[in-house]
Amino acid sequence: MVDLQGQYQSLKEQVNTSITQILESSTYINGPHVHAFQKELEDYLGVKHVIPCANGTDALQIAMMGLGLKPGDEVITADFTFAATVEVIGLLQLTPVLVDVELDTFNIDPVAIEKAITPKTKAIVPVHLFGQCANMDVILDIAKKHNLFVIEDNAQAIGADYKFKDGSKQKAGTIGHVGSTSFFPSKNLGCYGDGGAIFTNDDALAHTLRGIVNHGMYERYHHDVVGVNSRLDSIQAAVLSAKLPKLNQYCTSRRVSASKYSKAFEGQSNIVVPKMAQTKGNDSYDNHVFHQYTLRITNGKRDALVEHLSEKDIPCGVYYPIPLHKQKAYVDERYLEENFPVTNQLVEEVISLPMHTELDDEQITYITNTLIDFVNG
Ligand SMILES: *Cc1c(COP(=O)(O)O)cnc(C)c1O
Repeated sequence: MVDLQGQYQSLKEQVNTSITQILESSTYINGPHVHAFQKELEDYLGVKHVIPCANGTDALQIAMMGLGLKPGDEVITADFTFAATVEVIGLLQLTPVLVDVELDTFNIDPVAIEKAITPKTKAIVPVHLFGQCANMDVILDIAKKHNLFVIEDNAQAIGADYKFKDGSKQKAGTIGHVGSTSFFPSKNLGCYGDGGAIFTNDDALAHTLRGIVNHGMYERYHHDVVGVNSRLDSIQAAVLSAKLPKLNQYCTSRRVSASKYSKAFEGQSNIVVPKMAQTKGNDSYDNHVFHQYTLRITNGKRDALVEHLSEKDIPCGVYYPIPLHKQKAYVDERYLEENFPVTNQLVEEVISLPMHTELDDEQITYITNTLIDFVNG
C-alpha cells in the first residue's frame, strides 16, 4: 500500500546526518531539532502555533482538553472514520455524537451535523478523510450559528489547501479553532516512529496546549492544570524536517497517480472513482492530497475483489469495514440505523488501492487492468 523504503533512499544522507548529530549531542527530547521543525511547519501551514506532541490521537485529546470541554458535553463527528477520533471523545467522558457522511466525498455530512445539534453540543470534529477536506464553508457557518468549536482531525490531509467558496485558500488543519495531525509513518508526512501535532491561531489556546502536553507545567514543577506527557522526540523531528520541504512534491505525485487511476476507470459503471469536491472551474485538486485512493464497487463484488487482488499480489485495504456506531465500544441506543444509510453502504462498497509517492505507470496499469477485468467478469 505504501513504499516507505523508496522515500527513505532519496533522503538517506540528510536523515542519517541529522540522526547522527542527535546521537552525538544526546539532545533526544526537546532538542533544537524539535523547535526547528515546529517553526518550519508553522511557516509551511501559515499558522501561528504548532504544538508538537507524541501522536495524532494525543493531538486530538489535547486539543479537546485545551478547549475546556467537560464530561457530558456533546461532540459531533463522523461515523465513517478511524476510531481514534471517537476514542478520545469517550476517554474524556465527553459524549460522542456520530453522524452520517456524504456518499461521494466520504466526509461528514453538514446536514446531518445540523440535525444532531442539541443544547449540550459543544464541538464539531470534521475529519478530512482520505486526504480531502470536509465542507468547511458550511461547517464553519453551522459552528458560528450555534457557537460551537471546530476541531479538525487533519491526520490524513496535511498539505491540502482548502478552497473556500470565495476562492481564498487555507491549509487543512488551520481553519477551525484548532487542528490535529499525525506523523505516523504511513501518513502523508510520516516520521520513523510515532509523532503528532496540534495547530491553532489562538495565542491563549496555544499557551494552554503547550502546558497540557508537558504535565500541565507552565513553570518548572508548577502544575497548573491536569496535563499529559506527550512529546515529539528529536529524531522524529529531524526526519520530518528532511521531509517537509518535499511535502508539496509528495502531494503532487499522489494527485498524479490518483488522476491516472481515475482515468483508467473512466466509463466503468460498477466502479465509482473518488469525487473531488469544490473543484468547479479548477482542476488543480488542491483540496485533496490522496492519503488514500478509495473506490466504490457497486455491483456487490467488493469482498471477492479484495480476495482476488491479494491472489494477484496487489495490496489493497478496506477503510473502514465497520461503522463506528456498530463498534462494541461505541454502540449506544441513541443511534438509529436509519440515520446511517451512507456509512452502512460505504462499509460494503469501499476499497483503497496502493497510494504513495513512488507508484509508476506500469504498476498503475497492472492494478487497474486486473481490477477492471475482475469487476466486469
Ligand atoms: C491516523 C489517524 C489518527 C491517529 O493518529 P496516530 O498518530 O496513529 O495516533 C487519528 N485520526 C485519523 C483520521 C487518522 O487517520
